[in-house]
Amino acid sequence: MSKADNPLNDPSKRAPETLLVHGGDKRTAFNETSEALFLTSGYSYPSSNHAERLFNNEIPGAHNYSRFANPTVDIFQERMALLEGAEAARGFASGMAAVTNAVMSQVKAGDHIVAAQALFGGCRFVVEDFMPRWGVSSTLVDGRDPENFARAMQPNTKVVFIETPTNPTLELVDIAAVADIAHAHGAKLIVDNVFATPLYQKPLQLGADLVTYSATKHIDGQGRVLGGVVLGSKELITGDVHTLLRQTGATLSAFNAWVLLKGLETLPLRVRQMTESAAKIAEVLGNHPKVNRVIYPHHKSHPQYDLAKRQMKAGSTLLAIDVKGGQEAAFKLSDSLAVILISNNLGDAKSIITHPRTTTHQRLTEEVRLETGVTPGLLRLSVGLEASDDLIADLLYGLDQI
Ligand SMILES: *Cc1c(COP(=O)(O)O)cnc(C)c1O
Repeated sequence: MSKADNPLNDPSKRAPETLLVHGGDKRTAFNETSEALFLTSGYSYPSSNHAERLFNNEIPGAHNYSRFANPTVDIFQERMALLEGAEAARGFASGMAAVTNAVMSQVKAGDHIVAAQALFGGCRFVVEDFMPRWGVSSTLVDGRDPENFARAMQPNTKVVFIETPTNPTLELVDIAAVADIAHAHGAKLIVDNVFATPLYQKPLQLGADLVTYSATKHIDGQGRVLGGVVLGSKELITGDVHTLLRQTGATLSAFNAWVLLKGLETLPLRVRQMTESAAKIAEVLGNHPKVNRVIYPHHKSHPQYDLAKRQMKAGSTLLAIDVKGGQEAAFKLSDSLAVILISNNLGDAKSIITHPRTTTHQRLTEEVRLETGVTPGLLRLSVGLEASDDLIADLLYGLDQI
């Protein structure tokens, strides 16, 4: 028996924690331990004939231009695919580039999209405003009941797009039920899985066709770079998704891919710790007299608790609270905090509080905001890596100031 016979050579025998440290590794002749950073836009060829064959796709795995092929980005894509259990992945410049490319790769003028109305701001803009400008109509539905998707399907519906849990109210969409509805109508299901992270929810196993992430969030997790990724079958990813990326250039930079690779190594540690703190905070705030309600997927009070338990391995690193006293109280709380930052990013090592009504959801009308649960007293909390006791003390102090 030799090293070559070791069963752990097979990535499918490795746990996620191991895949996230080693997955996709391609060492150069120097045998470096940390992944090599290939800051190069182009590649040279040993001969004109080699170049001709390479451009004719006769040399598999070869690189000819970093808009669509770079060894550092390759490692990131392969590591993400291993984690997700996807056949293939493509990196993008940001989460919005990933979502936009995933959606656009599956539609043309005359087609129709059905999407949940509770979406990250940029995603909602793409589906509701941009797509119709290019002849792709869209219908937004309340995603909490799968029947609403069934009712909105049209003969020309090509894509169903959802996010679960949703931003900022952590509502859930039943991925398996919506996948069945989409497929019965010949449409593809695209799931933005940022809030659940690749560790807690596996949309592809539940029937999704494409999964997207803003890697800016938990994957970097330290507030440094933007990035995105789309995952799915080899057919979809190396076909439509790759072609759109290659020809329109929303490319993930090699430098950002390298930073994201470092982030992936510690993703499970960070997300586990953040989730543990989030669950503790949800418990404390759920019983506080100045809080109307706490919204956390694995908290017993969540209206879709059973689905949350079935669909997600753990709650989330995020929670939302609705404080008594509306916007004035919400501002008072946020403005009294010493540790938690007022910002709009999420999934960061630093805890962040957001007032969606006046920031991320300011663009929407009050009617639409209230429809999606964005009340004046709503605060979204992205729980970071600080000591949970400090975070709880910070929040209790803030609540005392109301
Ligand atoms: C942040 C985010 C995006 C957009 O990602 P960027 O990296 O900021 O472009 C899309 N969807 C969700 C759910 C997000 O949280």
